Amino acid sequence: MKHGLAPTQIVGWQGVSLQVPPDWSVTGFQGDAKEGYLRIDSPGSLVAEVRWAQARKAVNIRKRLDDYLNLVERQAKKRKVVFTGRIKPSEDWEGALEFNYRADRKVRGLIRQCPDCRRVVIAQVSGDKDDAVANIAYQILNTLQDHSSDGWWTWALLGLVVRLPERFALVKSQVMSGYLSLQFRWGYREVTVERWGLADVTLKRWTLEDWALQPAGWKRARVERAQGQARGHPAVMLSGVRTAPVVWLRRKLERVLLRRPELAHGAVWHCEPGNRIYSVRVERTGEQMLHDIVDTVVCH
Ligand SMILES: [Zn+2]
Ligand SMILES: [Zn+2]
Repeated sequence: MKHGLAPTQIVGWQGVSLQVPPDWSVTGFQGDAKEGYLRIDSPGSLVAEVRWAQARKAVNIRKRLDDYLNLVERQAKKRKVVFTGRIKPSEDWEGALEFNYRADRKVRGLIRQCPDCRRVVIAQVSGDKDDAVANIAYQILNTLQDHSSDGWWTWALLGLVVRLPERFALVKSQVMSGYLSLQFRWGYREVTVERWGLADVTLKRWTLEDWALQPAGWKRARVERAQGQARGHPAVMLSGVRTAPVVWLRRKLERVLLRRPELAHGAVWHCEPGNRIYSVRVERTGEQMLHDIVDTVVCH
């Protein structure tokens, strides 16, 4: 089968997760845990998209879906494209409505509201007229999850997989081919996860320890270094004080008034099979949190 692609790569964002084929990539994301959008592209013309919105009460998903499809129809009309669409209660996913439509692309998707977390999710797979959209949509949508059952969210994109307690909100992200960075905050606690590509090139010029210290702005004089292990690789373990590039007044106040611990802990390791360097750093939270998060990273 042309598109008998096994969905084996996990993509996770803001508590939503799904499995896609290994050569698909996240190409866009917007919003936050309350309301957001995620887009994953195949190397060809297939695209998976997920939209979510938090809700306190039961939502009329039929109306939401009508609103959504009306919007799509209006956009199609503007481009003078014929739109045909259909909605039906899902036989495969309890409580969900399935839809399919055709405008300039073939689209299949579902809408549902989770009875547990109340999130409303619209997920769809689209493709050109020759794509086996129905088959692929079924496989991918079947893996869709809108919350986690253990209170830890999976953040996964472009082959990076890490899990964090769901209270950590993403505050900054940088997604580039050679560098990926996700920064999270929960109150005064912070976690930063970074991944660099082309580790072999980097490690010709730097030792792993130098690399671990320099880009992260650790104060050399105030850092304890030790050898450790992370995901089966030797790791540089760091504990100490960092010079944050921007010192927030709020944090200064917290430190002075609330006597928050200022210590940061980090682990940096070289994953040879993946030719990448990984770094996880936690600040103003215990060292145990570092180990718990490092243990969730899937690096090769
Ligand atoms: Zn849920
Ligand atoms: Zn590894």
